[in-house]
Amino acid sequence: MDSQLRRTKIIATLGPATDAPGMLEKILVEGADVVRLNLSHGAADDHRRRAREARAAAASLGREVGVLADLQGPKIRIAKFASAPVMLEPGQPFALECDANAAPGDVHRVGVSYLDLYNDVRAGDTLLLDDGLIALGVERIDGTTIRTVVAVGGALSDRKGINRLGGGLSLAALAEKDKLDIRLAAELGADFLAVSFAKSAADMIESRKLLRAAGGSAALVAKIERAEAIVALGEIIDASDAVMVARGDLGVEIGDAELPGIQKKIIREALSRNKAVITATQMMQSMVESPIPTRAEVLDVANAVLDGTDAVMLSQETAAGKHPDKAVAAMRRVCLGAEHQFDTTERYQPGTHKFDRTDQAVAMAAMFLSAQVDPRAIVALTESGATAQWLSRYRSAVPIYALSRREAARRRMLLLRDVIPVEFDPHGVDAAHAAKAAIQHLYNQSRLAEGDRVILTHGDHTGQHGGTNTLKLLRVGAGGVAEGLGDL
Ligand code: PGA
Ligand code: MN
Repeated sequence: MDSQLRRTKIIATLGPATDAPGMLEKILVEGADVVRLNLSHGAADDHRRRAREARAAAASLGREVGVLADLQGPKIRIAKFASAPVMLEPGQPFALECDANAAPGDVHRVGVSYLDLYNDVRAGDTLLLDDGLIALGVERIDGTTIRTVVAVGGALSDRKGINRLGGGLSLAALAEKDKLDIRLAAELGADFLAVSFAKSAADMIESRKLLRAAGGSAALVAKIERAEAIVALGEIIDASDAVMVARGDLGVEIGDAELPGIQKKIIREALSRNKAVITATQMMQSMVESPIPTRAEVLDVANAVLDGTDAVMLSQETAAGKHPDKAVAAMRRVCLGAEHQFDTTERYQPGTHKFDRTDQAVAMAAMFLSAQVDPRAIVALTESGATAQWLSRYRSAVPIYALSRREAARRRMLLLRDVIPVEFDPHGVDAAHAAKAAIQHLYNQSRLAEGDRVILTHGDHTGQHGGTNTLKLLRVGAGGVAEGLGDL
């Protein structure tokens, strides 16, 4: 495999295609760092099995893998048809019936999952079905029936999603199913919980409360996929641990032409607020069928890397595609290529990040120093992973080895660009010797070599949260013994 260390992380969605014998091992070997369980599809037992199998596959490779549970959220869907699909022709009338007892649909009408929809739409609105493939112009509201004319036609099948162009549908963030699925995420020991269609900080606070009440310790990911979420972006990021640029639904709500600029803005905002960011959806969509990506897809993944994303995500490509392992391999290859061209100095702006904690300040000083002395690596002795997260919010060319004894912390760090979590238990080693022990550990694993210059951060007491207050500049001596530096 590639000798260059890959910095951008890869999330692969699990599904029927990754259930094939040996496929989980293959996608892990090709570079999947985190696997995603899409709770919009499949039964709870499928997700339990997939989480278990993914962890077993990682263990068989001597690795760790993160598990991301992605809630369905209040996605509005049409109901079922008596016989699907139906063929909608432009110009024909089509009705959406907000009635729990609506009969199965036909070419003239269909029910919807959100019975208040008729209150949220007005004549003149455009409703987009199936991720924008079909467009309906609203003519009038007739009782609880929304009368539309088909603007863009096509084949429409059961339970496709409905969005309104411009957003503004007032559904609560967590549906009943989501509340059950939060309990499932806790039971599975998921490392990340993604909240779909979040539109405010309150949605994230509520999800976190429910997750913690269920005993879950996952990091919270806000999926930015509503027009309203763009307006409330700052507060949503502050209330989350990470955000996802959920380009599928977001593109439908704000219009696809707005996506490139908004993607850059979300990535920039997340980094400057010290949070992680995932870029998702249709990144290598043609690989559902094809063994190689299109040039446009290569450019898209590379551009997300150049924008500064922490992770790129595969959805259908791995969950239901013909070549899950090749899709991961293509992403790995393209990430490596883009990282090679990434101009880190351009992004390095000390002083633009706000900081109000000692560990954060030390992390910033470490990155400042790193830009001056060009070390082989930055080594962080971190209990919770917080220091590694601060360090990695600056995009630098230097890898960050994050040494933690806590497995859960290491798995959460799998999402962070530039961070390589390493198991290290400083138990019984006093703080004065922990730095030496850490360097020796990395030397023994061939991650560091004699002569390497290293920046190291740690605290006064090993095994303490948020205790980082020390910055060291060291050289790896003969046999992996850390020594102080005289001349640079
Ligand atoms: P989904 O979210 O795949 O759950 O819809 C991602 C997106 O909308 O882009
Ligand atoms: Mn979505």
